[in-house]
Amino acid sequence: MLKNRRSRLKPFFEEYALKAVLVTDLKNIRYLCGFSGSEGALLISPETSWFLCDSRYTAQAAEEVHGAEVRECGAVRIDTIAALADEFGLDRIGFEASHTTVSSFRRLSEKLDRIELVEIGPILDEIRICKDASEIELLRSVATLSSHALTAVLHLIKPGVQEVEIALALEFEMRRRGADGKAFDFIVASGERGAMPHGRASNKIIASGDLVTIDFGALQNGYHSDETVTVACGQPNLREQEIHSIVKDAHDRAIEAVRAGISCKDLDEVARSFICEKGYGDFFGHGLGHGVGLEIHEPPTLSPRSAAVLETGMVITIEPGIYIPGFGGVRIEDTVVVTDNGCDVLTCADKQLLVL
Ligand code: ZN
Ligand code: ZN
Repeated sequence: MLKNRRSRLKPFFEEYALKAVLVTDLKNIRYLCGFSGSEGALLISPETSWFLCDSRYTAQAAEEVHGAEVRECGAVRIDTIAALADEFGLDRIGFEASHTTVSSFRRLSEKLDRIELVEIGPILDEIRICKDASEIELLRSVATLSSHALTAVLHLIKPGVQEVEIALALEFEMRRRGADGKAFDFIVASGERGAMPHGRASNKIIASGDLVTIDFGALQNGYHSDETVTVACGQPNLREQEIHSIVKDAHDRAIEAVRAGISCKDLDEVARSFICEKGYGDFFGHGLGHGVGLEIHEPPTLSPRSAAVLETGMVITIEPGIYIPGFGGVRIEDTVVVTDNGCDVLTCADKQLLVL
């Protein structure tokens, strides 16, 4: 499987006339060789690959890394790269421009002065955009865990409880169920704070009559889940019910429209035009969704400006919302896998307006 992923780099070796690619982004390293630690580099040539790490990670790399020879580096990793380049005639090496700082590029250029360094652009992001079967299983498993954790803590939402208490209880529940951590800082935004699409859980006390938006996800085996529910604490008023029902319908219509071949722009338009028709177009300011995988936000982007077209195996979120300053807001989000004819919804918390 990892071999399969590395083989997808092959056309790029030819396109850029490269002898090797130096991968320094840790998510890409994990994707290509399995290493999950926090320091290392992967040098890939069409024939051989080397995983380079310092002594802290040699044992872990020996267990985790597949398809690359583990080389423990001394104090300066670039010296090992230079030695390998000399030994194997790697005189033109691609590097990830979007994951290399100016200062590390300078260091590389000084040390590797006999080697031509070539910017390769987001090739690996493109390779990662369609998930393989093992990734989809990991994404499904983390999404299920996360949805079940939410369901287990919903009863804690009642008047007098702080938003942050809900966030902490949810994180604890995820960890108890086997998550490695949370996917991001949860959003728990109640009452008027619901108008902030990214209102992180605060010490605000939830009051009776508040809508509460909870945007949450777990992290497990490197993969993220992303899901949002908006629930009511006590009986919601008519306007709150109306807004929830519009967002829910926009969400359902967009999920109905997901399939390989639709453009991200057109999919965004399905939800956006519905919200506009209902008179709330000015209150849906963000894009419809984004890719999810080893990163919580990754390509493709679903927005009115997106040029991407959905393909089978992409994992994306569908998350329309309405945010009204001084009133509050509603967002509903699911993570789905794109299939030939539709999609498979991975997240599974109830999206009806629950009254707690
Ligand atoms: Zn989210
Ligand atoms: Zn999201």
